[in-house]
Amino acid sequence: MSVAERAAREQNIANAAARVERCRKCEIGSIRQNAVYGEGDACATLMIVGEGPGETEDKLARPFVGRAGMLLEKMLGAIALRRDDVFICNTVKCRPTFDDGVRLRNRAPSPEEMSNCRPYLDEQIELIRPRAILCLGAPAAKSFMGPKFSITKQRGLWFAGPSGIATLATFHPAYILRMTGGELEATKRLVWADLKAVRAKLDTRDAAPGPDPVPAQTTLFE
Ligand code: URA
Repeated sequence: MSVAERAAREQNIANAAARVERCRKCEIGSIRQNAVYGEGDACATLMIVGEGPGETEDKLARPFVGRAGMLLEKMLGAIALRRDDVFICNTVKCRPTFDDGVRLRNRAPSPEEMSNCRPYLDEQIELIRPRAILCLGAPAAKSFMGPKFSITKQRGLWFAGPSGIATLATFHPAYILRMTGGELEATKRLVWADLKAVRAKLDTRDAAPGPDPVPAQTTLFE
């Protein structure tokens, strides 16, 4: 891709992010501190789609910057990808919250919020045109593969996602962080297999020289 083409793509993404910033389709658009459009390489071959911004993401206007984000970076590192090599976003761009009487707490996005935000996600996919999409967790996976998608039974399998883009789901890093002991080890093994499937998918058509790869780990991410 030429420098001019990359610059045009970056500009289109910045314009789309500015539209998201102005969006008030949902109530959470007026409650959140910042819209979290997403970030990364405008020409990324891999797009990562999570559920929705949490407290830290809302504060910093960046996706996956809390504990789950740190684990996501380790997961990416395990297949020789840096955060900057991919494009990271969410099904919804505003932090879904509820007030427990003391403070705002995170909650899952509602179907209405997901459907209001869907045009922004679709536009992102069109602008970046990744070779593959990795969904983190069931909500992101269901938004592409349909409500019957089962994360436990169908993670690690490739589906034709939006515009036919190869799409695979794995467990959300926040879910992995809640596990301990043998359950954690077993889940990490499954996620590791999913990540290797993503690496293989990118490698099959990855003829173009990319950025210097970070050395691939040969073991499970820690
Ligand atoms: N969890 C998500 O699904 N997205 C984020 O951006 C952060 C945590």
